Amino acid sequence: MPTDIKSLTREELEAQFVTWEQPIYRVKQLMDWLYVHRVTNWDAMTNLPKGLREKLRHDFSLGTLEMFRKQGSRDATQKFLWRLEDHSLVESVLIPANPSLYGEASDRHTLCVSTQVGCAYGCKFCASGLDGWKRNLLPHEIVEQVMGVERWSLEQSRVQSPESRVVEGGQSPIVSGAMDAGHAPRTTHHVPRNPGHAFPSERLVDNLVIMGMGEPLANYDNLLKALRLLNSPWGGRIGARKITVSTSGLAPQIRKLADEPEQFSLAISLHGATDAVREKIMPVNRKYPLKELTAALDYYQSKRARMITCEYILIAGVNDSLEQVRPLAGLAHRLNAKVNLIPYNKVEDLPWARPTEEVCESFLAALKSQKVVATLRREKGHDIDAACGQLRLKTEKQLAASAAGVRSEP
Ligand code: SAH
Ligand code: SF4
Repeated sequence: MPTDIKSLTREELEAQFVTWEQPIYRVKQLMDWLYVHRVTNWDAMTNLPKGLREKLRHDFSLGTLEMFRKQGSRDATQKFLWRLEDHSLVESVLIPANPSLYGEASDRHTLCVSTQVGCAYGCKFCASGLDGWKRNLLPHEIVEQVMGVERWSLEQSRVQSPESRVVEGGQSPIVSGAMDAGHAPRTTHHVPRNPGHAFPSERLVDNLVIMGMGEPLANYDNLLKALRLLNSPWGGRIGARKITVSTSGLAPQIRKLADEPEQFSLAISLHGATDAVREKIMPVNRKYPLKELTAALDYYQSKRARMITCEYILIAGVNDSLEQVRPLAGLAHRLNAKVNLIPYNKVEDLPWARPTEEVCESFLAALKSQKVVATLRREKGHDIDAACGQLRLKTEKQLAASAAGVRSEP
C-alpha cells in the first residue's frame, strides 16, 4: 500500500520534491489543494504540472474516509462514524460553540477526533475500550476526519433541502437509517467522492479536541504528525492553542509533549482526586499513580505556564461525593488547572449511572466555594453528546447481529 499523501509533513514533502527536482513552491501549492481546498483527486490540482501529478499519483495514495453513518440534526451536535480502508470504524463529533464547554462563546465549531481503533486502557466507564485495542490511526486518518467533516458541511450548505437527499443506493442496511429511530431528523448523507475544485477555503473547524476513541498519547508519533499538519500555516492553519489533547494520564508522554515546540493545550481525564477512587475506574492509575501524574503535569506547567484542564466525569456513587471536593480542589490549585465536570453518559451494558442534577450542581458549587475555576456540562437528554465510542460499539453490534441473521437464513 502506498503512503497516503496526507501522512507526510511539509518537511517530508519538501524532501520528496527536492529528489524530484521540483521547486519548493510546488509543495505550498500541493498543500493548498490538500488542506485548504480539500480536493479528493489529483486531477483537481490544476496548477501542478501534469508530470508532477502523475508522479504523485504513482507514489502516493489520496484517500478519504467513508462516512458510514451519521447522527444528529443540522446546527446541533453531529456524530460521524467513519469506515477506514480495513473496514474499522471510528468516530468524530462536531460540536457547535458552547461557552460552558470549551471557553468563550463565538461561532466556533469544535471537532472531536479519534486517534485509535478501540483503546487499550480499559477505563471501566468507557465504551471505546470495551472491545480492546485494534490499531493506531495513521496521520492521514486523523487529518481526514477534519477534512471529511468540512466537505460534508460544505455539501450541506449547498443543498437547499437536506431531507430530500437521503442515502446513496447499495449501502449497508445500517446506513439506510432504519436503526436511527428516536433521533430526529435523522438522515444519512452522501458526500461526493469527487467534489472537485470549487471549495471555499474557510475552515469550519477552528477548535480541535483529541477526545475521540483511543488514547492519543499512546499513538504519539502519528498524533504529532497529524497535529502539525493541521496546525501548519501551509496546512490546516488551526492554532496550536485551539488544539486540545486529552489523555488518561500517560506521564512520560506528557513530559514529551511539554518538550515539543508547539503550544498544544492539554486536558487530563482525572475522574478521581485520590488514588483509591481513580484506581477503581481507571487501570492506568496503577501504572501512573497521582504522584507520578502530577509530577509530569508540574513539568508540563513549567514549560507552558498555561492552565491545563482536568476533565472530571461525575459517576453516581463512585466519585460524586462531596468528600472528593477537597482533594480535587487541592489538585486543581496545585496544578493551576480548571475543572470541567461532565455528568456521565450512560453506556449500554455498563453498570454506571449519571448522578442527579442536584448532586452535580452541589458538587460544582462546593468546588467553586474552594475557589476552583470549574464548569459543569449542562446539556441534557442528548445521548448524541455521549463520548466517542458508543456509536461505533452500537454499530459493530448491529453489524454482527445482521451478519448472524444473514448466516442463519437457509
Ligand atoms: N483517551 C483519552 C481521550 C479520549 S476519551 C482520555 O481518556 O482522555 C475522552 C473523554 O471522554 C475522557 O475524558 C473520557 O474519560 C471521557 N468519557 C469516556 N466515556 C465517557 C462517558 N460514558 N461519559 C462521559 N465521558 C466519558
Ligand atoms: Fe481509552 Fe480514554 Fe476511554 Fe480510558 S477514557 S478507555 S483512555 S478512550
